[in-house]
Formats: sequence, C-alpha cells, structure tokens
Amino acid sequence: MNILFASSEVAPFAKTGGLADVSASLPAALGEIGCETKVILPFYKSVKNMGLAGLVPFAINEFNFFKYTELGIEYIFVINDRYYDRENLYGEPHGDYPDNEARFSYFSKAIVAFAAHTDRKTDIIHCNDWQTGLVPVYLKLQKKEIKTLFTIHNIGYQGLFKKDLLESLGIPRQFYNINGIEYYGKISFLKAGIVYSSAISTVSKGYAREILTPAFGCGMDGILGTRSSELYGIVNGVDYNLWDPARDKFIKENYGPENVDKKIECKKDLIKAVGLPAETIGRPLIGVISRLAHQKGIDLLAGAAKEIIDLGASIIILGTGDKKYNAICSDIAKKHPKYISSQITFNNALAHKVEAGSDMFAMPSRYEPCGLNQLYSMRYGTLPVARATGGLDDTIIDLYEDKDSGNGIKFPDATKDGLVNALRRAVELYKDKALWQRTQKRIMNLDFSWKTSALHYKELYQSLLNT
Ligand code: ADP
Repeated sequence: MNILFASSEVAPFAKTGGLADVSASLPAALGEIGCETKVILPFYKSVKNMGLAGLVPFAINEFNFFKYTELGIEYIFVINDRYYDRENLYGEPHGDYPDNEARFSYFSKAIVAFAAHTDRKTDIIHCNDWQTGLVPVYLKLQKKEIKTLFTIHNIGYQGLFKKDLLESLGIPRQFYNINGIEYYGKISFLKAGIVYSSAISTVSKGYAREILTPAFGCGMDGILGTRSSELYGIVNGVDYNLWDPARDKFIKENYGPENVDKKIECKKDLIKAVGLPAETIGRPLIGVISRLAHQKGIDLLAGAAKEIIDLGASIIILGTGDKKYNAICSDIAKKHPKYISSQITFNNALAHKVEAGSDMFAMPSRYEPCGLNQLYSMRYGTLPVARATGGLDDTIIDLYEDKDSGNGIKFPDATKDGLVNALRRAVELYKDKALWQRTQKRIMNLDFSWKTSALHYKELYQSLLNT
C-alpha cells in the first residue's frame, strides 16, 4: 500500500504543536507494518535553515519539489519561497498571515500533482487538518480516483476565508453551498475535507464522539453528523525514541522506572535553567508546555496562581501563542517570581527538560482532541493533572478512582476550582513519598506507542481501497 501523508507540520522540520509529532511518528510506524509512506510538507524557512544535505530537486507540471530521505522515510518538500520562506508557519502572534488561503491551496494542489503523477502511484492520500482540506476537492475537479482519509486534529481550526476568493482558488461556484464548502457565508477548507474525503478520522474515540455534539463541534457537528458512519476515532501514539527519559539527549540525567530517584537531578537542572530559586527543589513542581490559546485553559491556571502557590507548589510554564495569553503568563511570573517561571518561547530542548524535571503536569484544556503531553509525562514519571475531555479523558484513569491502574488526576469541568481541587489531590499524593514513587514507576511502564493505532490506520486504508 502506498500512502502519501500530507501535513502542514512535521517534526523536526516544522512544528507548532502535536500535529508535527504525529506526522513524524505515524508514518514511521506505518512503514514498520508494511505501508510504504511518503510525507509531503511545505519547504518552510525552518526547513531551509536546517541546511539538509542530499535534497534532490524535481518538478511536476508547474510545481517544484525536493525529495529527501532520512531514516528510511521519504519526505517531499513543496517549494515556493513566496509562500513558505517566512518566520512562522501560519502567522504572527497578532494574527494569521493574510494569504493563508493561497499558501495552503497551493500546497493542496502540489499534493495532488505529486500523488497523481503516474510514476509515483499513490493509493491513499492521508490529509491532515484544514491546510490539506482542499486536496479531495482538487482530486474531484481533476477526476483523479485516489482515496483520501481526512484526519481532524483540532476542529477549532477551520481554514475560514472570504467567499470572493473562490475563483482564485480555482473552485467552481457549485461547490459553494451548504452541503459543500460554504460555512456561514465563508469558505471553509476544513469543511471541504469533511465533505469530499473518502473517510474522516480524528485522534481519539472520545473526541470523535464529542465533535458530533454542538458543545464541541464548533459548528461542524451538523455536517459531520451526515458522515458519522465514516468517522473514526484512532488515538495518537508516542514515539518513545524521542520521548523517553532513559535515552533523552536533552535532559541532565537519564533515568527509568528502576532508578527514578535520578529524576531529582533533572528537576535541579530545570529549576536552574528557568531561574526558579533553589528552594523549589522541596516543592512539588507543576510543568506546563502548551500552545497559548483559549483551548488550553491557561487563563484558568493563571487565575489560580495564588491558590496553587498556597498548596505549596511551584509552576513552570513553557508556551507561546496568542498575544493575550503570552501576556497573562508573563504577568503571573512577574507577580510571583519565587514560585512561577514563564518561558514565552518555543523551545524543544526545554520541553524535554520540563517533562523530566517536573513532578506533575497540568493540562486544564477546554477541549483536547488527543493531547500528547499527558502521555509523554507518564513516561517521565510526571503525574498528569488534566481536564477530563477528549483524548485526555480517554487516556487518563484517575488515581483516586482506581489506585491500582490510575495514571493521573482528572477533573470534570474547565474551571479554576476544578483545577485547584485536582492539584490539591495531586499534592496530597506527592506527600506520601512511597506511594508517589510506586505510582511513578507504574506509569513509566505504560505503553502508549503507535503499535495498535498504526494497525487501525492500516485497516482503515485497506477498507477504503476495498470500497
Ligand atoms: P496541540 O497539538 O494542541 O498543540 P499536544 O499536547 O497534542 O497539543 O502537542 C503539543 C506538542 O507541542 C508537544 O510535543 C509539546 O511538547 C509541543 N510544544 C507545545 N508548545 C511548545 C513550546 N512552547 N516549546 C516546545 N514544545 C512545545
């Protein structure tokens, strides 16, 4: 089976969030179970700056590409400096780039050109999020019979653009209707993916159920409902080659379940790196790594800062995103410099240090399609404390409900009080050192790798080819 995995971000080349991790690790896992998988993404400035050796240029029609192979995976970069040679992937903290519709329709057209090229037979194009939502539309317009799976990693990002742009996208008027790409007077690339793909999936079973409801569907629940029999939930996996304290090259001391006491060296190192006082070592340290967006509930955490400090805990926030939330995080750190450090930046090495050096990891998300950091945290013996929603609810079992198989703490509502109560329960457990260490060892041994989920994708691809 030949799969073309199309994504607007792929680690380590370009990353703003979890999509990049999935786009790196799922294709590798698919390769291991016999799906020949190529990965296609834009040739961004961040990729250019890596100075990769061995880029092989080629062209198909008016599109230019580089082919690049690493660790057995073939990457196809779509070249267009006017669109992709920019500081960021999608925009600046104050807003999106104004020509994103042109940037990602171009990407989608290039994907179709590559997939349809006769020498490079593609069975399935696996599209991800709104940036690739027009792929099935262009396939249809060009009468290409290639199956598509459209995976929704976050339904809150819908690729909405003015309807006057329809012509410039090369899409005929008849597609612009309520059963097509029209969404309340605008064009939605996400809706295009939902309507025209062969099947739809999302990144946990819980989120697959949630997005069919008005509370979580962000207005897409109606159209999704019309395709609910072709909507699948497949939970994301972890690449333990990258996220495992036993071999993590970014952390001070490697450790595993058998010597989790060494984690304290990582905590010391983290405290120093982010400028928290040395006394922090004796306090439970709560880590946060997040895109700073409304979804992530960072305002709930900021609003609870005083109460969390009163619980005896300290906080390290690593994040970047909306101007408003960047400011909220900076402000609480300024207000409580002895207890809170905010690092408003994107820094992968520091993200690994936060996972290893924190005692707990907070995710007060308003919604969370899957979430990866709770899974990374478990492997690092860092107890996740999360809102029970989407993938967080699916992957976390509350320790107070099931002390034998519990792997975190959950709270039902995205409120400040909910978060504080959950952290209080985590701090109580932390005080019982023997219980805490037993729990750490157990959660570090859990397996959230891609093994099972990659097989589910393979089955799904196969079923699409059989229809
Ligand atoms: P989302 O995809 O909604 O952003 P996930 O929890 O699925 O959330 O994935 C987030 C990924 O992005 C993780 O790998 C996390 O470590 C990483 N990440 C988020 N913010 C930062 C940051 N400021 N610096 C480094 N890594 C970050």
